[in-house]
Amino acid sequence: MDIHDNILNAEGALIVGAGLAGLFCALKLAPRPVTVLSPKPLGFGASSAWAQAGVAAAVGEGDNPHLHAVDTETAGAGIVDDQVAEHVAAEAAARIEDLARWGTPFDRDAEGHYQLSKEAAHSMSRVVRVSGDRAGRAIMTALIEKVRQTRSIRIVEGITAVDLARADGRVIGVWCRKLGDRYSEPVMIRARATVLAAGGLGGLYAVTTNPPGVRGHAMGMAARAGALIADPEFVQFHPTAMAVGIDPAPLATEALRGEGAILVNDRGERFMEAVHPDAELAPRDIVARANFREIKAGRKVFLDTRQALGARILDEFPTVARYCAEAGIDPVTEMIPVTPAAHYHMGGVKVNELGRSSMAGLWVCGEASCTGLHGANRLASNSLLEAVVYAARIAEDISGLEAVKTGLPPFAGIGWDEAEGEAVEERLRNLDAVRDLRAVMTDLVGVERDAAGLSEALRRIAELEATAQKVTRSYLNMTVSATLVAAAALKRTESRGGHFRTDYPEPDPAFAAHTDMTLEEALAIRAEAGGVEPPVSATVLA
Ligand SMILES: Cc1cc2nc3c(=O)[nH]c(=O)nc-3n(C[C@H](O)[C@H](O)[C@H](O)COP(=O)(O)OP(=O)(O)OC[C@H]3O[C@@H](n4cnc5c(N)ncnc54)[C@H](O)[C@@H]3O)c2cc1C
Repeated sequence: MDIHDNILNAEGALIVGAGLAGLFCALKLAPRPVTVLSPKPLGFGASSAWAQAGVAAAVGEGDNPHLHAVDTETAGAGIVDDQVAEHVAAEAAARIEDLARWGTPFDRDAEGHYQLSKEAAHSMSRVVRVSGDRAGRAIMTALIEKVRQTRSIRIVEGITAVDLARADGRVIGVWCRKLGDRYSEPVMIRARATVLAAGGLGGLYAVTTNPPGVRGHAMGMAARAGALIADPEFVQFHPTAMAVGIDPAPLATEALRGEGAILVNDRGERFMEAVHPDAELAPRDIVARANFREIKAGRKVFLDTRQALGARILDEFPTVARYCAEAGIDPVTEMIPVTPAAHYHMGGVKVNELGRSSMAGLWVCGEASCTGLHGANRLASNSLLEAVVYAARIAEDISGLEAVKTGLPPFAGIGWDEAEGEAVEERLRNLDAVRDLRAVMTDLVGVERDAAGLSEALRRIAELEATAQKVTRSYLNMTVSATLVAAAALKRTESRGGHFRTDYPEPDPAFAAHTDMTLEEALAIRAEAGGVEPPVSATVLA
């Protein structure tokens, strides 16, 4: 290990984030050396471990990758890259085999064929699953075991990246903070290839299904370093997060509606039948907006699984059953209160078919990236698929840079400490600046948007950035991501997929294209909206 003051050498590729994208990429790189950074112990802090339904793949009888691609394009509302959809769908079966080979116990029938779930907007049952609703946890458990056995993978827990490090116009690693170390200078970890796999931004919203650490840090960091961002305005709101006063909101998976569960309001009306011919299985954005409007009109919304599943929910959806039990709800006899919640980010750091960003030395993978697969609206269960497909491609692309080497020594003095970790999380949860930012996003950049609200959001984000008592790089990554989402949403004067403008409620063919945006452009839109403007870099105090 090479230490000069606060500089460490990864001695190989560096992967920032330990969700499915990061771990899959690390395993694909083996036996080439790789260092994986994780703010928490492996398995914690990642959306991947919370995924319930599974991975979309055309592996069932009568299905084929082209049909999968067509469903992906239809869900994406006119701006999915057709080639990307075709290629990702075609690679799905091979990546599922990788996951199975590395120990994921997918549900299978007596003949060994995958048992498949059906989710909204899929024309077939196409979602490979584990024990009903435990796909994410099971996949991550299998991969973590494999990663821990792989000597070429160095895992560093208790560390958070706050900035990309650059030299001579390329990314040369990241600046990081060790757990609990708020005062000394960040540590730099140098690498020839940096893979940003630090997740999406759901946690920027007050009502979200994402883990607390998934708050737009990846996109913010990359945008601040100058990377091109694509489609930041497209956020998917899941219609059925459980409204039980828990932050983050536990998810009641869409597969429940696939099994026949229905949505009713507190007047007992099944309102989705009047909204869309597919009723509860309409595309996610439509169901989310219908739920949002019921709630906005002062009514409550419930997911009723009683008739469709009865007591089967306890065995077939153990995760949902556990969440219900924790909230004091018996889903066999009671309905589950639900609400829309920020769930998935279709946009992110723009990458090409190899996962390369616009910056040399930086690859981006998983929810942090925008590959063009999801367009304006992600087809259910396509995100885990995208994560593994691009993780494999990135590993292949960068493996030429790395010599085979096993047995990387640990980084001394960096690690996870349970008590310290909880204290940091608690402190972050209670920071006024974070709470206020999340409220702005849910209230003004949420399920329904308009010009006045988005302009107000941009002003408030600028104000928060300028007045937060101590603006850390970490907070700046959040406000920058929030700015990109709100600015692009203001610029897109139409409605499409997950982006709905009450002042422009129809799609406009003139906008049937991806948004490409730099931080500079987003800041210009913010300034035009009247935001207080110290240049972002000047607001960094720590
Ligand atoms: C409740 C829930 C259910 C879902 N169900 C499904 C499903 O059934 N099928 C499907 O396809 N998709 C599903 N999704 C979406 C899917 O889980 C995610 O899109 C996918 O897991 C993203 O993987 P990732 O590896 O990119 O990010 P994550 O799994 O979120 O991992 C991000 C990693 O980066 C780390 N990190 C964050 N910030 C930093 C930083 N600054 N420095 C270093 N590390 C950092 C995190 O700690 C974490 O380790 C679901 C999402 C949620 C929240």
